[in-house]
Amino acid sequence: MSILVWIEQNDGAAVSSCWEVLGRAQTLAAEMGTSAAALVIGENVDAIAQEALGYGAATVYTASSPALAQYRLQPYAVAVAQALDAAGATVFLTNATLRGGVLAATVACSRGGGIAANVSDLRVEGGRLTATRAVYSGNILADITFASELAVASVRPRSFPMPEVGAGSGTVQPLSAGLDEASIREKITDFRAADTGEISLTDAKIIVSGGRGVAADPAKGFALVGALTDVLGAAMGASRAAVDAGFIPYKHQVGQTGKTVKPDLYIAAGISGAIQHLAGMGNSKVIVAVNKDREAPIFEKATYGIVDDLFAVLPALTEEFKKRLG
Ligand SMILES: Cc1cc2nc3c(=O)[nH]c(=O)nc-3n(C[C@H](O)[C@H](O)[C@H](O)COP(=O)(O)OP(=O)(O)OC[C@H]3O[C@@H](n4cnc5c(N)ncnc54)[C@H](O)[C@@H]3O)c2cc1C
Repeated sequence: MSILVWIEQNDGAAVSSCWEVLGRAQTLAAEMGTSAAALVIGENVDAIAQEALGYGAATVYTASSPALAQYRLQPYAVAVAQALDAAGATVFLTNATLRGGVLAATVACSRGGGIAANVSDLRVEGGRLTATRAVYSGNILADITFASELAVASVRPRSFPMPEVGAGSGTVQPLSAGLDEASIREKITDFRAADTGEISLTDAKIIVSGGRGVAADPAKGFALVGALTDVLGAAMGASRAAVDAGFIPYKHQVGQTGKTVKPDLYIAAGISGAIQHLAGMGNSKVIVAVNKDREAPIFEKATYGIVDDLFAVLPALTEEFKKRLG
């Protein structure tokens, strides 16, 4: 019996939210009297396996093959099945990215496991693994326990802190991938990068977000938010009201039904501070709020508050940061 965590990687770099899951898995394992193992799938995955040891995995299973160089569901699910058997795992965890979510669901279905998707908490209650996830558009938080022998969960990024990196005392165990390319039904014929050079919200150290406060001139408002993100090397966020109004695409939404973020600095411009927005950014280290209403709830959460018009404040901040940061 052990907990197995899938370490997602892209082009040889691990997705950092997997380490958060691995860190939590170790706490759970200690409470359940078992151990936490990691699984790295890809080609030439030794460096990531060493990283996983540093993040505290007791065992790191590796499935390495040219056929696994790129994520494909069918062979990746086969590798997970091998690792589950090797580890005798009764819990399988992924991060709740698109890939992690699909892999978790596939593994749960193929092995008759129970699944809790997109969870924001995992803990042991009365000796049983319990997961929490938002349901009904985030109006209710549901606690889920598992009746199945295998419990599977995908975990929302930023739900748990990054674990400390140590020397690592675990071991690496290669699995015999033994994959025949001809037997894999998914073929990758081409790659088109969707990345436009934007900084990812979930990884950003600084985020500048705009809300409905830009409504007087949304294009100008988000251009001002963008100018400040450029000078700070920040990612651009938004409230749901700004997204729903079509000012900015959904991928920028922060909050209960958007992304959960935890930057060192979060600047909220024209955002009132609704509970659902705070749910996604309330754990930021420093929060700066720009709002012309001094009674706006965001000021209760803010480290620093600027009571003024964002159309005047944002360009002033951008100019000042330009001067100071060169
Ligand atoms: C189930 C559910 C899930 C939700 N999930 C999310 C979520 O994930 N993320 C999210 O953000 N919301 C979410 N919401 C919506 C949330 O309740 C709020 O409606 C939303 O956050 C409000 O966005 P806002 O602060 O931009 O707009 P408002 O609440 O309208 O606030 C706009 C603010 O801008 C200020 N302002 C106006 N003009 C200016 C100006 N020129 N300069 C400076 N300040 C100005 C105003 O004083 C006001 O405080 C959810 C709601 C529900 C019911």
